[in-house]
Amino acid sequence: MATKLTAIRGMNDYVQGNAAILNYLIQTAEQVLQQYAYQPVYLPVVEKTALFSRAIGEVTDIVEKEMYSFDDRNGDNLSLRPEGTAGCVRAMIENGLLYNQTQKVYYYGPMFRHERPQKGRYRQFHQFGVEVFGFSAAEVDAELIAITARLWEQLGFDDFELQLNSLGSTEARTQYKIVLTDYFKDHLEQLDEDSLRRLDRNPLRILDSKNPAMGELIANAPRLADHLDEASQAHFSKLCRLLDGLGVAYQLNDNLVRGLDYYNQTVFEWTTTKLGAQATVCAGGRYDGLVTQIGGQPTPAVGFAMGLERLMVLLAESDFKTRPNADIYMIVGSEQAIQPAGLLCESIRDYFPGVRVAMHSGGGGLKSQFKKADKSGARLALVLGEDEIQSQTLQVKALREDVPQETIQWNQLITHLTTRMK
Ligand code: ATP
Ligand code: MG
Repeated sequence: MATKLTAIRGMNDYVQGNAAILNYLIQTAEQVLQQYAYQPVYLPVVEKTALFSRAIGEVTDIVEKEMYSFDDRNGDNLSLRPEGTAGCVRAMIENGLLYNQTQKVYYYGPMFRHERPQKGRYRQFHQFGVEVFGFSAAEVDAELIAITARLWEQLGFDDFELQLNSLGSTEARTQYKIVLTDYFKDHLEQLDEDSLRRLDRNPLRILDSKNPAMGELIANAPRLADHLDEASQAHFSKLCRLLDGLGVAYQLNDNLVRGLDYYNQTVFEWTTTKLGAQATVCAGGRYDGLVTQIGGQPTPAVGFAMGLERLMVLLAESDFKTRPNADIYMIVGSEQAIQPAGLLCESIRDYFPGVRVAMHSGGGGLKSQFKKADKSGARLALVLGEDEIQSQTLQVKALREDVPQETIQWNQLITHLTTRMK
């Protein structure tokens, strides 16, 4: 026998319950985004490696050690996308969608990072991302946060915390970097290996360190908030005011600098205490400099991405029940019943577009068909046997409630279901 081929470590199949949960998350998120009149985009999973090293930054975990990069058959160096923003910006520029225009878009799909797999951290995972281009005002930052807050409410997550910070303008940040570098240089002996490496090229990332031994050094570091330029301060206080007005609570977090280089001004993360070290379920911020960095005209931009696997873990652990597979199950009592049963199913689909009608296929006795109907989770079974064909009727049987079975004329079925399916 041939040896079994298995999936790659950290890359999951989603089938049955998990597939239903992922699908539910995507559908719910998509519905919310459409409530805010955002448009979908579908983008490639593979891009030139240079796009990510330029957008995300050379001195980042992603580019330094997490990307799946390879030379293709033409010798071009490509990477599986580790996140969606860089590709989205590239696509906006390339399709000419930024010049004199604004865009509010969303996407979802697999992302790839070579990390150590653990609960809530995988090598292929899914993000739902949202990006807005062409608006510099804080109300857009607030709108994005309002979107996420509405989504958590829809999903029944009431214990997420919003962490908020401002990184200021690029200029202010450059000034602050000098101050911060000086501070860390005065305490070189306390820096761990990662931080030493980041000191010259990306000192802000040191603030992001999860090493507890560095906690005190970081807590005493000069604060970015004290080095914000006036415009950034005004932007940030407007955002806070708008969030107060919306009733969205937040925590100001000085050390929130985000792992990616491209952010400026607003940065935010939604966190939960239920996922251990994988605490962040959604992260985003403003990235006004990225479009020019990738070769476009100056365009303000802001966005966020949610990690769907982390939300999946939370849903799976809650009392969330996935929807049953069907609402109505058609049981076919004989060979002659196949055609009329099929037509009846079609007319139900015509009149009730939201109702999922499973037509039994594959033959078998009534008993085994009823078992399948039950397993499908359907509320109603419709039974069409030989007697029913003669009288042009069918049996309607409730599978989840204790109500008597009824015999219904074919031409009365839609009327009957109108009351039954309420
Ligand atoms: P972390 O600090 O947890 O590694 P990150 O800062 O690298 O997160 P981002 O690049 O901001 O993550 O991605 C946005 C979101 O995508 C994260 O908040 C998280 O929910 C999710 N995410 C990131 N990496 C993974 C992964 N390997 N597996 C599952 N979800 C992930
Ligand atoms: Mg990471």
